[in-house]
Amino acid sequence: MMRQYELVEKVKAYNPHTDEALLNRAYVYAMRAHGNQKRASGAPYISHPLEVAAILTDLKLDDATIVAALLHDTIEDTETTREEIDKLFGSQIGRLVEGLTKIQKLDLVSKKAAQAENLRKLLLAIADDVRVLLIKLADRLHNMRTLHHMAEAKRARIAEETLDIYAPLAGRMGMQDLREELEDLAFRHFSPDAYQAIIHRLEELSEKSEPVIERIEKELTQKLSASGIHASVKGRMKRAYSIWKKMERKSVSFEQLSDIFGFRVVVDRLEDCYATLGIVHTTWQVVPGRFKDYISTSKQNDYRSIHTTVVGPGKQRVELQIRTEEMDRIAEYGIAAHAIYKDGRALPLSSRDSVESNVYAWLRRTLETLSEGDSAEEFLEHTKLELFHDQVFCFTPKGQLITLPQNATPIDFAYAVHTNIGDTAVGAKVNGVLVPLVSTLRNGDEVEIVRAEGQTPPSAWEEIVVTGKARAAIRRATRAAVRKQYAGLGQKIIERAFERIGKEYTDQRLKAVLPRLARASLEDVLAAVGRGEMYSGDVVKAVYLDYREEQSAGAGANLAEGGWFGMKGGQGLVFKVPGSSEGDGGGELSRAIPIRGIGGDLPVQFSPNGGAVPGDRIIGILTPGIGITIYPIQSPALTAFDDEPERWLDVRWDIDERHPQRFPAQLNVTVINEPGALAQVAGVIGENDGNIDSMSLAGKTADYRDMVINLEVWDLKHLNSIISQLKTKSVISAVERVNG
Ligand code: MN
Repeated sequence: MMRQYELVEKVKAYNPHTDEALLNRAYVYAMRAHGNQKRASGAPYISHPLEVAAILTDLKLDDATIVAALLHDTIEDTETTREEIDKLFGSQIGRLVEGLTKIQKLDLVSKKAAQAENLRKLLLAIADDVRVLLIKLADRLHNMRTLHHMAEAKRARIAEETLDIYAPLAGRMGMQDLREELEDLAFRHFSPDAYQAIIHRLEELSEKSEPVIERIEKELTQKLSASGIHASVKGRMKRAYSIWKKMERKSVSFEQLSDIFGFRVVVDRLEDCYATLGIVHTTWQVVPGRFKDYISTSKQNDYRSIHTTVVGPGKQRVELQIRTEEMDRIAEYGIAAHAIYKDGRALPLSSRDSVESNVYAWLRRTLETLSEGDSAEEFLEHTKLELFHDQVFCFTPKGQLITLPQNATPIDFAYAVHTNIGDTAVGAKVNGVLVPLVSTLRNGDEVEIVRAEGQTPPSAWEEIVVTGKARAAIRRATRAAVRKQYAGLGQKIIERAFERIGKEYTDQRLKAVLPRLARASLEDVLAAVGRGEMYSGDVVKAVYLDYREEQSAGAGANLAEGGWFGMKGGQGLVFKVPGSSEGDGGGELSRAIPIRGIGGDLPVQFSPNGGAVPGDRIIGILTPGIGITIYPIQSPALTAFDDEPERWLDVRWDIDERHPQRFPAQLNVTVINEPGALAQVAGVIGENDGNIDSMSLAGKTADYRDMVINLEVWDLKHLNSIISQLKTKSVISAVERVNG
């Protein structure tokens, strides 16, 4: 097992200025935090973060990365919090550890192959700091190295995940060695039989081939040296996994597979690369179609090298990579090679940010343009990074991954999970905190939808959501709700019509005459009457064939006596108006109008000219296609309905004292035409706690201005006090309530 002092020595070897005390503090902290936890191998848990940190020293990474590696499992697996790490180690390290904790959720996600692509994207989208990915890869590498300790049932799954996600990711980040080791370890557990077979053959072969590798190394080094080129030539047999892939791809047997030897020739200068190539090609026979010059045309991830294949001394194919030391470093370390350290010294803090952003820019560029489709790269994806920057990746509480477009809301999330969840959503918790349903989701958010059955999505949501699925579902639900409202309104109208002739309405009576009305269902009839497509008198006539409409006189007299107030009351329901989105600046999506005396889910609104406030005696007027409009009983507009008593409804206020709300009223104000008059009117209303909705000029003479003011007040008393206050001002010559 690696020891802490060995880790510190490793860091010091490339970074003499390392903060040794910081490394030690992190080690002690992680050791205490993990306490008695053990790895599957039985080793103390701390051995794992220590090894992960050690892997990262091979990449010569900075102190923050090494420390974060030591701490990487603390938030996830112990009592430690982000705040605590921030406090003890600074917010930079806190951010890295938190980033790893988020990525950790990936391991909970079911590993269907179809999801692998999303997961790769998620990794990249979440990791706004590339060091998080480097630590994650090191973490995975150590877990793969110790996979044989895990229960056998788990191994194949973890190995598959490594092949699907982490190995390609390492390759994509330019870290070929890391990728190859991950692949080999995964292959071993994913297809143990195939792995053993290949290893066995390779061992047999290596007895024979060792002399071959040595011979080529020696011969080539000498030839190059004779031409004045200083070079290091290293040969090896290829890895089991890459041999396996090649056998699969070309469907050939191991025996038929000719090129299992690879050589790397590292020279001092760029010119030497081409000189070396010339010598190789004149010494051995070239295999056609295998030459690639990634120096003159570099691959977009900064990989530079010359590739060629020749027929070697023992007639076997030999693959060569020719490059300079600098190119070799980038090929090996990839993204990590990009100067987090220069000359073994940490860069001054001030330039860290730009280094980090350079490295990240490099990653972006790599991903954006990696599209050559070279067969040597397993994972060349044509999708550009921008494509998945348009997306956010969120989780359900159970860890299911939900991919949404940028700016998606919890409403979109809810509909993406299931239409029914969207329809019944009333709130959302993001990462455990209640948030408005209209907020914007971010990568890695865990979203829990709070639901209430019997809910209808407000139509205003349609404007807020960004996914087509959510929009269509909301439209459907809204349409159904509106139809229900019309049906409710229609029923009310029909009931009134029956009452007028002294009959009682029942569903059965109406159902019996559906064919006569040429409608398929009861709701069809009710909705048609509610929308004004069918006249309520025709419905009555269909039921009572001998019914003849009589002109009902005397409504006005009834009104004067307030006769409707004696009629039976309603159920005291409070009605929501899903369709009303006006005046919802505060994010309020539906407004409850506290009116008693209306049955069903009916749309309710106030008289457009003048409104109504608690304290007013009120009347509801049924209007097909619109709903119920509330008028103060003194409103002159009511005379228009004198001839249609079936449209009058007895209603009254049902105010909830605990939740006071404002109601609309309208004033006509005449002011003397002088500067500041308008300001005085607004001032008085404001000082007296009135809300001005709008003001408009209704008329003017040389001396006076007439204004119409729409305002909102608590009740009639409040409105009257505002009127009195206005009247005290000398610039105001008259104040009148409209309707009043
Ligand atoms: Mn770990």
